Amino acid sequence: MPLESLEADALELNIARTRYLPDCPFCGRGALMHSSVNHGPTISKAPLYQSRISCMNHNCNASVLCNERTREAAQQGAIKHWVSRAAHCIEQAITVSELFYLQDSRSYVGNDVLWWAQKGHGGYTTDLRNARLFTREEAQAQHNARESDIPWPKEYIDARTRPAVDMQYINHTEALTGARPANSLLSASGA
Ligand SMILES: [Zn+2]
Repeated sequence: MPLESLEADALELNIARTRYLPDCPFCGRGALMHSSVNHGPTISKAPLYQSRISCMNHNCNASVLCNERTREAAQQGAIKHWVSRAAHCIEQAITVSELFYLQDSRSYVGNDVLWWAQKGHGGYTTDLRNARLFTREEAQAQHNARESDIPWPKEYIDARTRPAVDMQYINHTEALTGARPANSLLSASGA
């Protein structure tokens, strides 16, 4: 027996009206819930309810569904799937490709780009390890406030770093006198 589509109930109407479900993690559009019932599934005579939450964007078609013995259980299951998938996808997107460094393009240090620094590392830094990371929204807001602040995707910049030595942090005398542990290792192995 095929699935019979059910009229929207109060919960489904409320979802359509208030959009309280998280937006689609793939395209950012809203989501709708719809339920159906199968009155005679093959294995058991008891009806089986199916709730599906799907993205409103027909070009996206993201959806989750849940089958349960009651409509309410199917709805709650579908909501749980949708919410956890949305959270999971958004978290992944942020960690993989949605992080940005912010360049202060008003000046450079030598040829090095100047980045907004993390708290406790001064205002700006050339050292990416101390650079502050921004989400897309944060980076965009900062750029809107001051055009010379330019967002760069973290992955792009990370692939273009090179080891370099800052002359401010080296001292020849310290380097020679501080070499004792290495000397003693050498003499130990030579003995
Ligand atoms: Zn979508």
